[in-house]
Amino acid sequence: MNDKCAGGTGAVLDKIASKLHISPAQLAEQPYFGIRLHQVAGKCGVFAETDINSLQKQGVPTDELMASLFDAIVLQNLTVLTRGHTLYPEVLLLGGPNVLIRGMREAWQHNLGLLWKGRRIGLPKGAETQDLVTVPENALYYAALGAVEFGRMEEEAAARYLGTQCLEHYVRDQRQAAKVRRGDPGLISSQFELLEFKNQYSRKPFVAANFSAGTTVRAFIGIDAGSTSTKAVLLSDSSEVLCKAYQLSHGDPIQDAKELFESLRNQVESQEARLEILGVGTTGYAKNILRDALCADIALVETVAHTRSALHYYSDPHCIVDVGGQDIKILVLRDRCIKDFRLNTQCSAGNGYFLQSTAHSFGVPIDRYADAAFSAGSMPTFGYGCAVFLQSDIVNFQRSGWQAEEILAGLAAVLPKNIFLYVANVPNIQNLGTRFVLQGGTQNNLAVVKAELDFIRASFAGSDVEPEIVVHEHCGEAGAIGAAIEAKQLYDTGHRTSFIGLDAVRHIQYRTTRSEETRCTFCRNHCLRTFLDIRTESQHIEPSESRNSKVPLEQDQRRVIIAGCEKGSVEDIDRMRDIKASMDSVRARTPNLVDMAARHVWTSRHPGLVADPIPTARWRNSVQRRIDLMKGRSKLRIGIPRVLNMWVYAPLFSAYLESLGVLAENIVYSDFTTNEMYRAGSNRGSIDPCFPSKIAIAHFHNLIFTKHVRKPLDCIFLPMFDVLCSPLVRTRACNACPTAAVTPETVEAAYTKEINVFAEKNIRYLHPIVNLSERRLFEQQMFQCWGPVLGLSAEENQRAVEAGFASLATYERDIRHQARVALDMLEREDHLGIVLLGRPYHHDPGLNHGILEEFQKLGYPVFSQNTLPLDEDLLDRLFGEEVRAGIITHALDISDVWKTATAASSNMKLWAAKFTARHPNLVAVELSNFKCGHDAPVYSVVERIIERSGTPYFCFKDLDENKPVASIKLRVETIDYFLKSRCEGMRFMSESVHPETERDVSVHEGLIALNVLNEN
Ligand code: SF4
Ligand code: SF4
Repeated sequence: MNDKCAGGTGAVLDKIASKLHISPAQLAEQPYFGIRLHQVAGKCGVFAETDINSLQKQGVPTDELMASLFDAIVLQNLTVLTRGHTLYPEVLLLGGPNVLIRGMREAWQHNLGLLWKGRRIGLPKGAETQDLVTVPENALYYAALGAVEFGRMEEEAAARYLGTQCLEHYVRDQRQAAKVRRGDPGLISSQFELLEFKNQYSRKPFVAANFSAGTTVRAFIGIDAGSTSTKAVLLSDSSEVLCKAYQLSHGDPIQDAKELFESLRNQVESQEARLEILGVGTTGYAKNILRDALCADIALVETVAHTRSALHYYSDPHCIVDVGGQDIKILVLRDRCIKDFRLNTQCSAGNGYFLQSTAHSFGVPIDRYADAAFSAGSMPTFGYGCAVFLQSDIVNFQRSGWQAEEILAGLAAVLPKNIFLYVANVPNIQNLGTRFVLQGGTQNNLAVVKAELDFIRASFAGSDVEPEIVVHEHCGEAGAIGAAIEAKQLYDTGHRTSFIGLDAVRHIQYRTTRSEETRCTFCRNHCLRTFLDIRTESQHIEPSESRNSKVPLEQDQRRVIIAGCEKGSVEDIDRMRDIKASMDSVRARTPNLVDMAARHVWTSRHPGLVADPIPTARWRNSVQRRIDLMKGRSKLRIGIPRVLNMWVYAPLFSAYLESLGVLAENIVYSDFTTNEMYRAGSNRGSIDPCFPSKIAIAHFHNLIFTKHVRKPLDCIFLPMFDVLCSPLVRTRACNACPTAAVTPETVEAAYTKEINVFAEKNIRYLHPIVNLSERRLFEQQMFQCWGPVLGLSAEENQRAVEAGFASLATYERDIRHQARVALDMLEREDHLGIVLLGRPYHHDPGLNHGILEEFQKLGYPVFSQNTLPLDEDLLDRLFGEEVRAGIITHALDISDVWKTATAASSNMKLWAAKFTARHPNLVAVELSNFKCGHDAPVYSVVERIIERSGTPYFCFKDLDENKPVASIKLRVETIDYFLKSRCEGMRFMSESVHPETERDVSVHEGLIALNVLNEN
């Protein structure tokens, strides 16, 4: 059975179908066969919805979206719920979605057909997959029929039907009493309180400006194309909001924009005035599409747009709380500058939209939500967290008799917990400041505002401070206002608009193409792209390479390409080369030590041969066997998966094997992680752990079914890392993560469960347990593993282990040296670099989702926790004072921040956090995976170490097989904005500060650091 986290298949299908305006009748008939599929995450409804949203914005038609969703759900079932078992024919499909939706049935038939073929499961003669995957008669009633059958088997005396009276009594009296006992009081305690609250927080309805007939209104437009709604404002040249327009997004940003521009225009022209647009700014998920389509002047990242807007209306806010349909943003400001920010992960996404759709499902219009919620005298207590959990809570509360208005009140009440505890992760709200601005469309709901107010005020209870909380005057349009303000600022500094004009927008025509013809062939990813061919009346069309494209562009059309990367945004190979050249030049100037480490870890360092000479005497059988094995070393082909701790220790093992005579080209690594690889190999998993662990099954699949097929492998080697090595001192232990340690066993179970695939393919699977801290023990472990395969003597094994560690040391020394060069450069140039606080496998671009490369592209050098330089002079500069003061015994001592230091990677992460906190040119980006039990205990410690030193800290948590492109982009862009202003500040300081003052400041900073440590 699914766990809570994968729940809600039927509810997810309903919700997404309704968002795509597909009726239940159409959904039932929606086919799967013959429809193009796209990648959608199936593990969770929230993730699936995010993917569907973004595909829809790229112009993917609804039938393809729904078929992709069916596929994702079925694959998720086959990958996770079957726990690695094969579903043998015949398969009965039960449950509402399978029974009622044609496409779900077809998706099962297709995927089971593939599975049976792949696992060579024989079908009965003449039978087709369709005949063996069927919906039986009365499928909807199987659970009820089962209950009847069970009852029939019971003893007569076991239970007796007593009529409906007991049930009625329970529903009427008992359930009601139990419900009230378990719930909370409602959102308001009295009508007086409600009146007082409404007096203070009900906003006057917005009245659009009046214009005199015959005048020309010179104004700016800001448009916020959000995930669930689109908003636009007209801003005067004195920054007053003149008119507004709003509508729920239809998944077509250009059409939405067209309608909103028309609405703004009508509001002016209906008064017989003329509208002249001086500038246009865009923001929101579709900001770039709109910028390109409308030739807008600026596309502003949402976080910045919201900040601009709040700062325009409020002089010195401390905390902006923006709650939109999908996203939550907390922006912390000091002296009108962003000091910190928090954005929801996908797991906490969708709260605003969730309130709206729940109200809708109860038949309560959204503008009646607050009144309904205020009418509840008590309400159920929701646990905070992801929308899927809230959804299952709703079902349970309904079972317990809670009414719609009570549930709506409870949902409003849990929202501030989601915002401050789940998203912002700030248990003490007072740390955010005392002046709060609430904005975003969800703040139009007064029930939500009341709940936030109560929550924030309660957090200040007992202190002398009274928080000031305001709701943004135009909370729903705050982002659009910010974009318009930015466009105005550009105009004020002399920029003249590139906007295509209102008439052109009115007559804009466009065609969206996403097909084989639009596929990009500039790299082996072969992404499908979307071509948006736009025709407007008044535009000047430049000659375009697209006139000769596979999708020909007409003379009066202009093409906007939505692609997976910058290179794919053009069609002409020379233009692509120009783009690539400019990207390469940024890369060349911007060292990425994570990427460097990730590439070099797999290359051979050509260790010298340490093997024994081949014995000449061969009169004993055992000697002859050894000679044969030794001669066979040069032919032996060994597969090694690129997973887990191999991302650091591969040089040790490759050098060990090579020094014994295995050829470097015969050490065959699996491919780098890709989504295709995961999909191809993941359905054998018998458990559902974190992504870094479960991807191992896919890497083995790649080795067995791709590499081995190309040229046979003799062995596959993946040790069970028990204890690792570490440069740190005074740690209690240096253990590997237990999930990672036992992954080789999990893999073995997956590939031997029904058929022993290793035996079938004649591959030896070697997965010894290894302890890298105890050299003698490690030698024994390697000897036991490889002795019978390579015909080893104990002496040559020992020499090979030495060669392995020497190679590992060389690899680390080289990377650390490069890191030092990069760090020195940062110091010289007063620039900032990013330190990855993660684990070895976060070097894998398929696991880190390319996040680090995005920073490199923006010009930030990237370092990893495993390869920070360890030069004495540097360590003395960063830690010397504390060592001399006796706070720590050594620069590599973390006992001041973490007493229970037993896990190697966590220890290293904490040390790297300390390093980053002390280095003025470094900021931290922490990566962590969904279901990681090891990161959770150190999250807050890492954050505290970094933030107490005033160093920026950013995190990307819950990473998984699903790549949340939009959310990654939003974070990276926001971080970039934030860091740019920090860099400017650093340069300003270094240019203006007198050397003596600089010395004083650094002494002062040293003292602060010491105080911080003492507090820890
Ligand atoms: S869009 Fe980018 S990633 Fe995709 S195939 Fe083209 S070049 Fe490769
Ligand atoms: S450290 Fe966390 S993410 Fe990594 S293998 Fe262990 S449990 Fe999984």
